[in-house]
Amino acid sequence: MITVPTPLQKIESELLTAKSVTLYVKRDDLTHFYIQGNKWRKLKYNLERARELKCNTLLTFGGPKSNHIYATAAAGKEFSFKTIGVIRGYENLPLTSTLAFAKEQGMEFVFLSKSEYPNRFSDSFLEQMKSRFGDFFMIPDGGTNEYALKGVGEMVDEIEIDFAVLAVGMGTGGTLAGCAKAVPGKSVIGFSSLLGEGLDEDIKKLIGEDYSNWTINKDYHFGGYAKMTGELTSFITSFQAEHGILLEPVYTSKMMFGVMDLISKDYFPKGTNIVAIHTGGLQRA
Ligand SMILES: *Cc1c(COP(=O)(O)O)cnc(C)c1O
Repeated sequence: MITVPTPLQKIESELLTAKSVTLYVKRDDLTHFYIQGNKWRKLKYNLERARELKCNTLLTFGGPKSNHIYATAAAGKEFSFKTIGVIRGYENLPLTSTLAFAKEQGMEFVFLSKSEYPNRFSDSFLEQMKSRFGDFFMIPDGGTNEYALKGVGEMVDEIEIDFAVLAVGMGTGGTLAGCAKAVPGKSVIGFSSLLGEGLDEDIKKLIGEDYSNWTINKDYHFGGYAKMTGELTSFITSFQAEHGILLEPVYTSKMMFGVMDLISKDYFPKGTNIVAIHTGGLQRA
């Protein structure tokens, strides 16, 4: 069962008092033990659409540690969809804990080499999938598409306090786009965990040119996707000790580190109310 609305937790710290800013964490990691945060928000209307089309099979894409693959597999089990995961890279045994979990939930895998993976949306590949699995509802990597934005918007609508800034972690940018669209009058900062180029273009493609209330901060990627440093590890430990909130190493810890660091550097004017979204991503094997 999905538990929404998710709570808002006020963060107390000397830094915040000294800088006269307030910080709340939207605990969207609490939607479900397995199907958390933005991955649930992005799936919700995709699942609804698949049902409308009377399609019982979901086919989606991701890397061998993908939170989206993890959440889709769990959602498939919970909501009675067959799930197929097209996975980037050769099958490496033993499976990653993500894929082992997904398999346990009933997901079937198709492995594509890193050189084949870019062709995953080609007609010939999709035809091949169709003849193998029958009709399916296709959800892109990270769950990011038009249906995703609607679900993310609902998450933002749950925030009942007045705020000026929303902070989110960022991979594909679907969450940032959904947030920006939901609160046109506020400023939304996406903290990128990737080194990749072209992120701005991706956001514009998702929400169009009409929105200018978002920015991408690229200063806190800590070396890129799934890269860690000792500094980040100790930040996760101390944040949990002080506030009782567990952050994962790929997205939410980098975002929260960035928010705290910007606060300490007086990036936000005194009196700013900030909401940081805990988008989940705590994979439990
Ligand atoms: C996938 C994920 C993100 C990134 O979301 P995008 O919509 O792809 O930008 C952020 N936080 C967590 C915990 C995630 O799992």
